[in-house]
Amino acid sequence: MNVAPGATLGLIGGGQLARMFALEARRMGYRTRVLDPDPHSPAAPHSPAAQLADAHVCAPLHDADAASELAHGCDVVTLEWENADVATLHQVAEWVPVHPAPGVLEIAQHRLREKDAVRRLGIPTAEYRAVGTVEDLRAALAEIGTPAVLKTARGGYDGRGQIVVRSADHAEEAIRSLAPATEMVLEAFVPFQLEVSAICARNSRGEVAIFPIAENAHRGGILDVTVVPARIPNSIASSAREIGEALAEGLGVIGLLAIEMFVTADGCLLVNELAPRPHNSGHYTWEACAASQFEQQLRAVCGLPLASTELLRPAAMANLLGDRFQADGSLPGIAQALATPGVALHLYGKRHSRPGRKMGHLTALAATPDEAEERVRSARALLGE
Ligand code: AMP
Repeated sequence: MNVAPGATLGLIGGGQLARMFALEARRMGYRTRVLDPDPHSPAAPHSPAAQLADAHVCAPLHDADAASELAHGCDVVTLEWENADVATLHQVAEWVPVHPAPGVLEIAQHRLREKDAVRRLGIPTAEYRAVGTVEDLRAALAEIGTPAVLKTARGGYDGRGQIVVRSADHAEEAIRSLAPATEMVLEAFVPFQLEVSAICARNSRGEVAIFPIAENAHRGGILDVTVVPARIPNSIASSAREIGEALAEGLGVIGLLAIEMFVTADGCLLVNELAPRPHNSGHYTWEACAASQFEQQLRAVCGLPLASTELLRPAAMANLLGDRFQADGSLPGIAQALATPGVALHLYGKRHSRPGRKMGHLTALAATPDEAEERVRSARALLGE
């Protein structure tokens, strides 16, 4: 059975991913309700999604009563953040379908479980070991070698909650720097050539669709620029799509699954991270594909046929972080940047900027991926820094 236009879709979390979902939902004739803790005040308006939703339940994401209030007005609930509270989601799932299912989140919230699940499906990752103590770390370093990357099992994102360990002498310091975490993963450092991502969608009928493989450059652990199609041989792009299909099916995801991968010098793919939600590296789909990743999420969670993932033109996306913005959230240079042909601006409605905060992005379309990258970077350079 599908959830047809006119129905109400619940969103757990009210950031930019939920905002773009709400925009697509509204375009397609759905209503939205958002659970998000940001209160409204003249100085700080609602969260990015609550500004656009039909209804806002203002409460912490783990508030069971608030989740119940959200769910009882909705036909289906989805989310924008994999670190939503699983116990609350299990409860919500008793009243209304929740996609992706709480069990998928339990895997995606925990780096060790995630890597174990990927390996169980026969898909390669970097070598890794579970670490709880300095002794564990020393033993793991002896097996994996240095450099290696120590990551918290839970809660890390945008490069937070991880540290490169260059020698066993630094084991104690590394553990201390991630305190109070007691569950960690040590990964071999991958001297990758490129980072890529695959954004897959799967609906309840088991249909799978995969957007073109994206090439991602990070800065300070945060996604900086995405270029599509990724400048990799077709054989690697096909393998990335196969990995996407195997993971979406193997984990039984309903909704989206974003998969970040390393491409090694010898052309192998290693899965780094999974996110069962829209992904920053899929923002380009809004302008560049037949349908956006947010429309695809909606179709998947509503049991509708999946949209075409066709790439209409090569594209590049550049994030706009708080560092470029004035303290009051304004952004100098917009008129100059938008004079670049083929450039689109997205701002997320965040009133307060701070360094590293994702405030918006630019997407550029062009005849080739190189040209799109050049355009988006030069347009962004005109925005206040
Ligand atoms: P993550 O939070 O796991 O997505 O890591 C953030 C970024 O750190 C990645 O996009 C990579 O650029 C880098 N990184 C993470 N893990 C490794 C690794 N094992 N080897 C090399 N670089 C890594």
